[in-house]
Amino acid sequence: MMKYISTRGNAPELNFEEVLLTGLADDGGLYVPKDVPQFSQAEIESWRDLPYAELAHKIILPFVEGCVDSADLKKILDEVYASFDHKAVAPLQQLDHNEYVLELFHGPTLAFKDFALQTLGRLLDYVLERRHEKVVIMGATSGDTGSAAIEGTKTCRNVDIFILHPHNKVSAVQRRQMTTVEGDNIYNIAIEGNFDQAQDMIKASFADKSFLKGERKLVAVNSINWARIMSQIVYYFYSSLNLGGPLRPMAYSVPTGNFGDIFAGYMAKKMGLPIEQLIIATNSNDVLHRLMSKNQYEVHELLHTITPSMDIAVSSNFERLLFDLYDRDGQALAELMTRMNAKTDVVALAEDKLAKARELFDSYACDEDTTVATMQEVYAESGYMLDPHTAIGVKAARTVRRNNSIPMITLGTAHPVKFEEAVQRAGFDVPALPHHLKDLMERAERLDVLPADLAAVQKFVAEKTFK
Ligand SMILES: *Cc1c(COP(=O)(O)O)cnc(C)c1O
Repeated sequence: MMKYISTRGNAPELNFEEVLLTGLADDGGLYVPKDVPQFSQAEIESWRDLPYAELAHKIILPFVEGCVDSADLKKILDEVYASFDHKAVAPLQQLDHNEYVLELFHGPTLAFKDFALQTLGRLLDYVLERRHEKVVIMGATSGDTGSAAIEGTKTCRNVDIFILHPHNKVSAVQRRQMTTVEGDNIYNIAIEGNFDQAQDMIKASFADKSFLKGERKLVAVNSINWARIMSQIVYYFYSSLNLGGPLRPMAYSVPTGNFGDIFAGYMAKKMGLPIEQLIIATNSNDVLHRLMSKNQYEVHELLHTITPSMDIAVSSNFERLLFDLYDRDGQALAELMTRMNAKTDVVALAEDKLAKARELFDSYACDEDTTVATMQEVYAESGYMLDPHTAIGVKAARTVRRNNSIPMITLGTAHPVKFEEAVQRAGFDVPALPHHLKDLMERAERLDVLPADLAAVQKFVAEKTFK
C-alpha cells in the first residue's frame, strides 16, 4: 500500500484515503508519495493504444492501491472522462512543425482543473460512503478552481461545498459556471469584499474549525491536495504516447501558478516517461522565474493580470520539488521553508540545489503585452485562438526551448471563452460557448451575498450544514 510522507518530516505517515481527507500535514508540510511508482519503457510502450480513461487507471492505481479497489477506480475514471466533451479527452492541436498545444479544456468547466477535481469529488464520495462520514469543503476562488470544484462535487452525497467569491469581481461567465450548477449541497457565497478577504476567511476557518462543532471534517480542494496532482500526471503520458513516446523524449511548457500542474510533469518523468525539458511559464507574478534565473527568492505583492488563474504571490507546490532537491531531508526543508515564508529577506538556494533545479527546469516570465501579442501571432499563423494562460506557455516554449528536434507540447490550460478581457484586447470576437454551456447566460443563478465578516460566513456554513 502506498504511503505518504510530509515534506517537513515531522507528521505521521498516511495512506491515500487519509491524504485525500487532509490538507496540510500537521507539521505545516505537504504530503508526497513515500516511493514513486516506476514504469519500464516496455510497459509504457504497451499502453500506446489505450483510451484516456484506461491509461489513467494504469497510472493512478499504484497511488491509491489498498484504499480504492481497482474495479471501483475503473468505474470512477470511466465516469469522469465520459463527462468530457471531446472523445480524445485531451486532444493535441499542432501549431507548427514539432510544436503542439495539449487541449486540457474539454471538461465541464473548460479548464484543466476538471481533470483533477472531477476525479477528486468522486473519490471523496467513495471513501466517505465507506466511512459513513460527511465532510464540508470550503474554498475561495477568483475563477477556475471554484467552478471546477463545484462541478466535481455536485453529485456527492456526503459533501457540502461552500465556495466564496468576491461579489461583482468575477467575470459573468466564471460566476455563472458556479452559480448555475444545480445541487442542494452547493452554496455560492458572494463576499462584499475582495478575493484576499475571502481567502483570509477560508484560512481562518481551517485554523479554527470549532464552528463545525467537531461533527464534520473540513476538507481543502486547493492544489495542495495530493489527489489533484496524481490525476494530472496522466496527460503527460497520454500526449507523449500520441507523439511517439516513450521511444522519443518530449518537452513540455506549462503555464504555472501554484506549481501543481508542472509538478505532475516532474512526477511523470520520475515515473519513467522520457521528458527532456520542463518549462515553468509564469505571468508577471514571477517569484519562481526570479528564483530560477537569479537565485533570489523574494515574495512580492500580488499583481492582478489578464491571466488571473496564474496570479499567485507564492507557489505552494514548489515545496514538493524543494523536498526532492534537498534529498528528502524534512528537517532541512522545514528550516528552508521557515526562511522562505518569513518574507523578510531574500532567500537563496544552495548552489548545488539550484544547479539541480536548472537541470530539470527552465523558466520564463511573460508580461501582459507579450501575452496578447502571442495570442495574435499564433492566430495569424494558424487561425488558432489561444487563451491568455496558454499563450504564456507558448511564448515561453518559443523563447527557452532547448532542442528543436524534440516535440514541444504546451499545456492548453483553459478555453479562451473564459477570458473575455484578454480575447478582446487581442482584437478577437469572443468565441461561442461550447455546446454544453450554450444557454449558460440564461440559466437561473443561486448565490448568497454576505458581508466580508468571518462570523457571518461561519454562521451561514454551520446553519446550512446542520439544517
Ligand atoms: C490553475 C491554472 C493555472 C496554474 O496551474 P498551477 O497548477 O496552479 O500551476 C494555469 N492556467 C489556468 C487556466 C488555470 O486555471
